[in-house]
Formats: sequence, C-alpha cells, structure tokens
Amino acid sequence: MATVKRFSIFCSKCNQKFPVFAALHHSINVDAWVKEKASNHDCKAFAEQLVKERAARPINPIKASKKS
Ligand SMILES: [Zn+2]
Repeated sequence: MATVKRFSIFCSKCNQKFPVFAALHHSINVDAWVKEKASNHDCKAFAEQLVKERAARPINPIKASKKS
C-alpha cells in the first residue's frame, strides 16, 4: 500500500519550491515524476496563492483556526 508523502519540488521557471502531496507507486520513476511536476507547474496560480497567503492575517487567530 502506498503512503502519501510530501514532495518539495523546485520549479526552475518561477524559482520557487512548491509542495506536492502524492502517493507514488513503488514502480514509478520518482525523478521523472518530479521533472514532470516541475514542468507542469502553474507558476501564475502559485504566485497568486503566495500573495494570498501573505495577505491573510487573521485579526483573531483563535476564531480563524476554528474554521478547519
Ligand atoms: Zn513555477
């Protein structure tokens, strides 16, 4: 059974590392998979996401953490 692992993939297009959660079958070529993920990186969406995360400053952290 495959377990979900967190991969940190570097994108050379936007020079950012981004996390990918995946359960890879043991027969998969991880290097090729990582390369494919990096080449398919949605740099624009990732940049927007980073901006959002930086902008997200909850006034009441206790209230904000209850959401999840
Ligand atoms: Zn990118």
